Amino acid sequence: MQHSSGTVRSIELIGHFWLSCCVYTAAKLNIADHLEQGGMHIGELSKKCGAAQEPLFRLMRALASGGYFEEARPKYFVLTPAADALRTNALPSMKAFVLSMMGEHFSSWGQLHYAVQTGKPAFDHCYGQSIWEYYSNHPAEGQNFMNAMTGLSNFAIPSIVQGYDYSNFNLIVDIGGGNGAMLTAILQASPQAKGIIFDAPYVIEHTAKLLAQSPVANRCQAHPGNFMESVPEGGDAYIMKYILHDWNDEEALQILQHCNRAMNKGGTLLAIDAVIPPGNDPFPGKLMDINMLVALTGRERTAEEFRQLFEAAGFQFNKIIHLPIPDVSIVEGKKI
Ligand code: SAH
Repeated sequence: MQHSSGTVRSIELIGHFWLSCCVYTAAKLNIADHLEQGGMHIGELSKKCGAAQEPLFRLMRALASGGYFEEARPKYFVLTPAADALRTNALPSMKAFVLSMMGEHFSSWGQLHYAVQTGKPAFDHCYGQSIWEYYSNHPAEGQNFMNAMTGLSNFAIPSIVQGYDYSNFNLIVDIGGGNGAMLTAILQASPQAKGIIFDAPYVIEHTAKLLAQSPVANRCQAHPGNFMESVPEGGDAYIMKYILHDWNDEEALQILQHCNRAMNKGGTLLAIDAVIPPGNDPFPGKLMDINMLVALTGRERTAEEFRQLFEAAGFQFNKIIHLPIPDVSIVEGKKI
């Protein structure tokens, strides 16, 4: 093993961490939004974002070295594709995701050792409340987190819509459906189906407003509730994206059992999550799993762990459909 390559690896890694902090600052100062209409000299940019010119220039130079923004001519910066995705209105926009991960999530990552030592969420240790309580108590961050999830969803939705045949379903219930980006896209591609977006009351309040302007408003409802208590009945498909990974096995089982109880025999369960492959190869879900350890009681799961969970909740474990995005697989179960 080469000692010097190991040294370089750690230096590069910490550099990426510093770059992440620069990207967070760019998102906070709305720099990509200010450059949306075209490039800008650092003097004008510093006025637009209320920053001192000299440190802002150093920030921009560092960002440009990481592919975010480009100094097209001296002290004059333009967007690059990576910087463009930081615009509020980019489709998909990564701005809210960056703000959330490097914002309220950030201090709990500093306490990862607490989570590893105790198995308890570092987030709760930092903030004295669970992340869901925190979002319900901090509406601006709560809405930003929903926008973060929508940004990630907008990236994954085309693969989810194309990667599965929804044409046999009459009523699709999206459990923890957030602001409804995924279900409304599925419904647009499935004209025969109706839908219910189910989520916590403070989330659904905003979802209902968005839904009213959606082309599927006449076939889709927004339904508030708590999936630890019950879920809407009568759907023939229950779909849940990035839900099971938020919860430990005991809690995930409870959610699945509520779905099982609410659906008819032959009903379909579609869990959309990363499925962790065996081996040492890089896989984004392995780090998302640590994000779950930091922020929540949850975990990413292997195919075998999904099978055990589905069977314990009364589902037949049918198959896993891997989509082109590595962190997004569809795990299909049937109520037997
Ligand atoms: N499915 C969405 C959101 C995933 S984030 C997407 O992929 O973009 C997890 C979601 O679970 C959030 O919207 C959160 O509000 C919701 N949630 C958390 N606890 C809940 C509960 N007890 N009952 C209902 N929804 C809950």
